[in-house]
Amino acid sequence: MKIKMEGNIKLINDDGLRLDGRAFNEMRPIKIQTGVIEKADGSAFIEWGANKIIVAVYVREAYPKHTQNMDRAIVKARYNMAGFSVEERKRPGPDRRTMEISKVVSEALSSAIILEKLPRVEIDVFIEVLEADAGTRIASLTASSVAVADAGVPMRDLVVGCTAGKADGRVVLDLSKDEDNYGQADIPMAILPRTGKVVLLQIDGDVSEEEFDQATSMMMNAMKDISKIQRDALMSKYSIEDGE
Ligand code: UDP
Repeated sequence: MKIKMEGNIKLINDDGLRLDGRAFNEMRPIKIQTGVIEKADGSAFIEWGANKIIVAVYVREAYPKHTQNMDRAIVKARYNMAGFSVEERKRPGPDRRTMEISKVVSEALSSAIILEKLPRVEIDVFIEVLEADAGTRIASLTASSVAVADAGVPMRDLVVGCTAGKADGRVVLDLSKDEDNYGQADIPMAILPRTGKVVLLQIDGDVSEEEFDQATSMMMNAMKDISKIQRDALMSKYSIEDGE
């Protein structure tokens, strides 16, 4: 549940602009790069506003053998925040939140990967958050999807995500850290864009049905642009390699 922070911060000014100057339906800038870790089968680095996250993917026969699934691959995403990624030093090791994020990211990726094409295989997705500024689960998932594709894993589609929420009682896109802390709701969502299938949806806080519809339609629009950034990242790596 969203816990209201102490104090009263005005998140939207009289001109309708947010603390970082964005309009209510404006995203933070996003950059994605692939092939950033030589040793990994696939990798990606995402900068989403001030979030910086690196993902490395390893595809191998599951070991020990009794963990293998004879019919399909297993996806194991592990989300980790570096100690220096947040203002107050993050204690090392898994906590409830990191376990929850690892689980929802693993499940969302599993919906996109054609698991039955890789029996007995384990797909390890290592997510390291270097700098966190709200929206890291969605930025991690968006980058992981690119890193899995970069590893040559057969996929139905590239998972893409976005967040919306409520700040000063108004529905806004892509929450900043202050909006996440002092706002009234946080809604991360991810889809398979080809079919529109929802593969991650969490709601933290209070929203009416109308606000929820407004939030999802804003996110659906934004996800079209984010999908393009994902595809461009993959295209630019492979077009450089082809040109060599
Ligand atoms: N955060 C933090 N310390 C923590 C966990 C989170 O400072 O131990 C910050 C971080 O900036 C994160 C934000 O709180 O991005 C929001 O966290 P939330 O659990 O809502 O997940 P996220 O929005 O990152 O997916």
